[in-house]
Amino acid sequence: MAFHRFKALETVLSRTPVNVTLPSNKVSEFFGENVFGIDAMREYLSEEAFNSVMSAIEHGSRIDRKMADQVAASMKAWASSKGATHYTHWFQPLTGTTAEKHDAFFEPTEGGRAVERFGGSQLVQQESDASSFPNGGIRNTFEARGYTAWDPTSPAFVIGKTLCIPTIFVSYTGEALDFKTPLLKTLNILDKAAVDVCQYFDKNVTKVNVTLGWEQEYFLVDEALYNSRPDLAMTGRTLFGHSPAKGQQLEDHYFGSIPERATAFMRDFEMESLKLGIPIKTRHNEVAPNQFECAPVFEECNLAVDHNQLLMDVMEKIARRHNFCVLFHEKPFASVNGSGKHNNWSMSTNTGKNLLSPGKTPKTNLQFLTFFINTVKAVHDNADLLRASIASANNDHRLGANEAPPAIMSVFLGTQLSSVLDELETKVKSGKMSPDEKTALKLGIGKIPDILLDNTDRNRTSPFAFTGNKFEFRAVGSSANCAGPMIVLNAIVADQLIQFKKDVDALISENVDKDEAIFQILRKYIVASKKIRFEGNGYGEEWVKEAAKRGLSNIKTTPLALAAFISKQTMNLFERHNILSEREQHARYDIYLETYTKKIQIESRVIADLAMSQIIPTAIKYQSSLIENVKGLKEIMGASDFKKAGQIQLGMISEISEHINTIKTKVDEMTEGRKKANAITDVKKQAVDYCEKVKCYFDVIRYHVDKLELLIDDESWPLPKYRELLFTK
Ligand code: ADP
Ligand code: MG
Repeated sequence: MAFHRFKALETVLSRTPVNVTLPSNKVSEFFGENVFGIDAMREYLSEEAFNSVMSAIEHGSRIDRKMADQVAASMKAWASSKGATHYTHWFQPLTGTTAEKHDAFFEPTEGGRAVERFGGSQLVQQESDASSFPNGGIRNTFEARGYTAWDPTSPAFVIGKTLCIPTIFVSYTGEALDFKTPLLKTLNILDKAAVDVCQYFDKNVTKVNVTLGWEQEYFLVDEALYNSRPDLAMTGRTLFGHSPAKGQQLEDHYFGSIPERATAFMRDFEMESLKLGIPIKTRHNEVAPNQFECAPVFEECNLAVDHNQLLMDVMEKIARRHNFCVLFHEKPFASVNGSGKHNNWSMSTNTGKNLLSPGKTPKTNLQFLTFFINTVKAVHDNADLLRASIASANNDHRLGANEAPPAIMSVFLGTQLSSVLDELETKVKSGKMSPDEKTALKLGIGKIPDILLDNTDRNRTSPFAFTGNKFEFRAVGSSANCAGPMIVLNAIVADQLIQFKKDVDALISENVDKDEAIFQILRKYIVASKKIRFEGNGYGEEWVKEAAKRGLSNIKTTPLALAAFISKQTMNLFERHNILSEREQHARYDIYLETYTKKIQIESRVIADLAMSQIIPTAIKYQSSLIENVKGLKEIMGASDFKKAGQIQLGMISEISEHINTIKTKVDEMTEGRKKANAITDVKKQAVDYCEKVKCYFDVIRYHVDKLELLIDDESWPLPKYRELLFTK
């Protein structure tokens, strides 16, 4: 057995970095070359078709069928020039990955001939028999038809020999079965709500885009070692493994020099990504050994989400070329840091203003404060929903562990902005302010950019932190589709902005001056959302106590966290804005619960399988060799000599027996727990049962397996160890 482990290690040690040749040192020469972007469209489309696509991108207008035919023909011509022979609608079902179904461009014609064909109808809409995608009971198998429909706001691209067309994915009866459909809706709603509020400050604002800049953390593991760890291969994380003597305590990996093989991989996937128009810019080591991060320049939210999904695909493919497996799992290794995907979020106007960037004048700063405070208020009012949006079986291992933001939602503002808010709260009186008071306040606000310049306090322990000109949602899991949390964030902020406008307009209609009305309402929000603000250490035990005192939720597990998706408040919010119907919302809830259950079920099976078929047999074999040794000692020694010499072996023999016993007993109990859970038909109850009555065995089984790892001779241990997974270069 251990043969595989040593073979794998030998393979890793013999590896040399794969040679990567960049097409050119100048990224500008190949950036976006595989994208049917503005330049390619200008070259291939008629002016009329070009304008029609641009107007769809900018104003969401419809592209008629005649125009779609033209676009399809040009798209195909362009893709063929890139060597594409097939096309696919590329979509994001609720599994969290991306899906594609490839069709050839050619169609057979009479007389055994074939023509290349790709028309508007193939571009715009595809029927897809996708009954195997999660649908939460929305589609019965006899009505398995779903549709994918072109999203012109995200450009088509070529990967390998396939033209990929970003699409939404809906059921035959029109229900959303993907992430993109509700995301696009929330982007629209937030656009309108934010434009309306901007009118108080600047009449030139006609469009507000949400911007998203994600940072992607991941681990690299050599493919040979990965393949000898069935737990990694099947669940994406290690279910056993004693922590290595050296972990991350020296903190020598963070921002250290990147190992050569990893660098070659990065250059390679970055090049592919850049060709696909993903503006990837940053790379560095992360805290844990073999952990890294990459980040692009921020983009419009829908595009950024697609680019993140695409990047994960590209990384997985390119990693194989370098004999690596990339781990996007939130917690692949116990005792070293897990991985997150920080979502940096802001809003920007068609006039080029970042709405979360403090301006230079009192007027633009009142606008900044408006968006800033409304966001804080939205998070306060919808903290549980935000928590639900990042809930997953994987992320449960990370949130609240002492290296990741806690499951308690809070907002970090920084000392400067906290004091600005405090000042606003005390200075704005509930009565009418004198012109002097108003001027004084506005002047005070005008100083924000100066104070922020030297605002260096960056709280890395907050799940939701303001970082100078954007909010950083740090609790998002590394394998998650960014759209999940973005849908919620956009929706709650849009809803809040609409409420804000109503509140302000109500005061204005009572003849309160506009600025004063804004001040009054902001003050009200500051007071109402106070308890969500937290500047201290989010990893500390004191915060858990303090949060409980404040009445903030601390929902530690996914099955319970997900409940916020179907709360009255959420249902109302999503229905009010026509983002997701009650039926769609329920379907999603079921899908997330089912996914949770399946994940824990698979992990539990793999634990039992490995424990019974690899760990215990190895332990028994080693124990037998100890028994042989003891017998031999007894034979050649006198009883009194043996008493001295044989004690250690005897102790080890019984220690091994104890571990084997406990492992076997716990595996049996866990299997029993699984059987009971499997019989439950209610999805929520089943997930809770898996969480409380199956998952609870993982740690104890692992504890005893890890003890055996230390006891048993290295030579016969079947699984690559942590030190090998994390430190073999
Ligand atoms: P870090 O959080 O690692 O210290 P930075 O604060 O420099 O790094 O930026 C993190 C990310 O924030 C970058 O990936 C960048 O794309 C993104 N970002 C910067 N400005 C914005 C913005 N206005 N909207 C959305 N994302 C942004
Ligand atoms: Mg960050």
